[in-house]
Amino acid sequence: MSDGKKGGGFYITTPIYYVNDVPHIGHAYTTIACDALARWHRMMGDSTRFLTGTDEHGQKIQQAAEKRGMTPIQLCDEVVVNIRRLWPLLEISNDDFIRTTEERHAKVVRHFFKTLLDKGDIYKGNYEGWYCLPCEAYFPDAQTGEAKTCPDCGRPLSRMSEESYFFRLSDYQEKLIRHYEEHPDAIMPKARYNEVMSFIRGGLQDLSVSRTTLKWGIPVPGDDRHVVYVWLDALINYASAVGYPESGGLWETYWPDVRHMVGKDIIRFHAVIWPAILMAMGMNPPVRVFAHGWWTVEGEKMSKSKGNVVDPFEMIEVYGADAFRYFLLREVPFGNDGDFSELGMAHRVNSDLANDLGNLLNRTLQMIEKYRGGRLPDGACLLRAREIDRAVAQAARQIIDRMDRDMDDFALDSALKTLWTLISSGNKYIDETAPWKLGKPGNDPDERLDIVLRTLWEVLRLTAIILYPFMPATAGRIWEQLGLKAEAPDIGAVKLPDWEWGRGNDAIDVKKGEVLFPRIDMPKWVEEKALRDAAKKPGAEMAESGPGGAPDAKKFSQIEIEDFKKLEIRVARIERVETIEKAAKLYKLHVDLGSEKRVIVSGIREHFKEEDLVGKKILVLCNLKPAKFRGIESNGMLLAAEAEDDGKEIISLATVSGDFPAGSLIS
Ligand SMILES: [Zn+2]
Repeated sequence: MSDGKKGGGFYITTPIYYVNDVPHIGHAYTTIACDALARWHRMMGDSTRFLTGTDEHGQKIQQAAEKRGMTPIQLCDEVVVNIRRLWPLLEISNDDFIRTTEERHAKVVRHFFKTLLDKGDIYKGNYEGWYCLPCEAYFPDAQTGEAKTCPDCGRPLSRMSEESYFFRLSDYQEKLIRHYEEHPDAIMPKARYNEVMSFIRGGLQDLSVSRTTLKWGIPVPGDDRHVVYVWLDALINYASAVGYPESGGLWETYWPDVRHMVGKDIIRFHAVIWPAILMAMGMNPPVRVFAHGWWTVEGEKMSKSKGNVVDPFEMIEVYGADAFRYFLLREVPFGNDGDFSELGMAHRVNSDLANDLGNLLNRTLQMIEKYRGGRLPDGACLLRAREIDRAVAQAARQIIDRMDRDMDDFALDSALKTLWTLISSGNKYIDETAPWKLGKPGNDPDERLDIVLRTLWEVLRLTAIILYPFMPATAGRIWEQLGLKAEAPDIGAVKLPDWEWGRGNDAIDVKKGEVLFPRIDMPKWVEEKALRDAAKKPGAEMAESGPGGAPDAKKFSQIEIEDFKKLEIRVARIERVETIEKAAKLYKLHVDLGSEKRVIVSGIREHFKEEDLVGKKILVLCNLKPAKFRGIESNGMLLAAEAEDDGKEIISLATVSGDFPAGSLIS
C-alpha cells in the first residue's frame, strides 16, 4: 500500500549517529537509503526534507573525554568531523545536520520535558535496578541471570538506586496498539511490525527518563541534579531540527509526514517509546518507521578483531561512490540482512553498470555520431513511430509508475531491478531494430533511423532522471553526454513530471564522453585486492595512531600515493624451499627476482607443501628491512590474503595471472 501523497511533504531521517563511532558500512547504508528516497521525492516534486546528525551526550563520551584530558564538547567537536566528512564523498544530499549539543536542540528537549511534566506524563519517582555503565541501561532482573551481567555486552552490572523521572509509557500501551492496528504500514517490514506489536502486547512499563549518575547531558528543567536520559534526548532531534514548536517553523510543513529509517536493533526506541512521547505531546506519531537489516561480510559478522570491517572511504576510493551506492541498494531486498562481498560488487559493476547501462549509452551515442554527425534528430519524427517504438515508450511509463510504487514501499532493490528492465528493453530494441541496417544509404528512408535514434535517446533521458536518486554523479554524466546540460544544467533540479517521454522537439547535439564504468579486469582486481588486504593486516598499518589520536581514526585514514610508492612490490619466482630445524611453521624460500636472488623466511609451512610452492610466482615486498629468524636473514616479505574458514586460518598467496616475468614491479 502506498502512503505517498504526490505533491505533499516527505520528511526522512536517519538515526543520529553516535559521534565517537568510526563510520562503517552500517552508517553508509542507512544514509544512502535515505538519500535515494529523498532524491526520488524531490525529483517527483514533493517538498522534501532529509535530516541526519550526531548523538553527542552520555556516559561514554564523558569517559572518553576524561581519558583524553578534554572536555566532552571538545571531544565531540573533534570527532564529529569523522562522520561529517563521509557524507559529501557518498553524495549524501541531507538538508540539515543536527548535533544534540546544539542549543537549538537543547531548548526543544527542555520544552518536551517541561510540557510532559506539566501534563503529568512525566513524574518523579525512585529507580532501583541492575545497571550497565557502558550500555547506559538498566536491565530487569529476569534478563541479568545468576551472574548479574549485562544481556547486551556481557559486562558485570552494578546495583544502582537513584531518584528518577519517569515517563508514563504504561498509559500508552492500548493507544499504541490501536494506532498500529489502524496503520499497518507505520512499521515496516512486516516482521518488525509483528515483533513490535507482540512487545507492546507483552506489557509496557514506565520509562526512566532522567539520570543523576552522569553530568554530560541536558539538565532537567528546574532540577539540574538530573540530566535527560540520552535516548529521550536523542529521539527529540527529529522534532528540534525542524524547529518545533516555533510557529511558522519547518515542522509545520514536514512533521505530518515524518519517516524514520533505522537499523533493526533500535526499532523499539522508534516504534514504541518515541510514538508514545509524541502522542503525549499531542503530535502525530511517525508515518513510518522502517528498519533495515544488517550486513555480514563474506558470510561473517563484521568485527574489528577480525579486521573485516568494510570501510566506506576505501570502497569509494576503489569503486567510486556510485558503484558502492548501487551495490548496497541493489544487492539485498531492503529490510533483509545482506552479505557484503567485494567480489559481488565487482561483478555487479561489470554486468549491470559496464555492460547493461554503459553499452546502451555507448551504442546509442556512437550511432548518433556515426549516422547523424552527433546531431540528434528532431522529436517530431516520433509522431510517425511504429508499434515497436511506441511499445518502448509505453514500457517506460509503466516502469516509472512501478518504481514510484516501490519507492513508496521503500523497496529500493526492487525499484532498481525495475529500472534495469528499462535499460534492458533499450538494448533489446537496438538488436531488434538493427539501426546499422537502416543507416545504409539507399536502404529504407532516413526517417526510420531518426525514429529509432530518438527513441533510444528518450530511453536514456528518462533513465538518467530516474537513476539520479540512486547514482547522482553517473546520472549527471549521462545527462551531459545526451546533450541536455544546455537546457537543464543541473539534473538534480529536474522534476520528472515536467520531463516525460517525447518532451521537446529540438534537435540536440550529443556529446559522447568517457565510458561510464570501465570494465573491471578481474585478474588484476584479485591482485589489487590481495595487496589491499595485506595492507590491512594488524601490524601492516603504515602508521600507528599518534598519542592522543582518536583510537580508531588512523586505521581508516587514507594514504597519499607517495606513501604507496614507497613500497617496492615485485613478482618473484620460488626456486627452492627448505625447512628449518625446530621451526615447524617456517620455510626458507629461495626466490628469483629477475635481477637478483634472495632468501625469505616465511611462516606458511602449515599451509603449503614444498612441492606446491616451487615454481610459483608470488608477490614480494622487497624493500622491507631485513630480519633474522632462527639465525637466518630474511630479505623481504611475501604477500598473502588471510581468512578464517570454520574457525581455521586459511591463506592464499598473492600472485599474478599468466606467465609474468619475475622482477616485474607492482604499481
Ligand atoms: Zn552492557
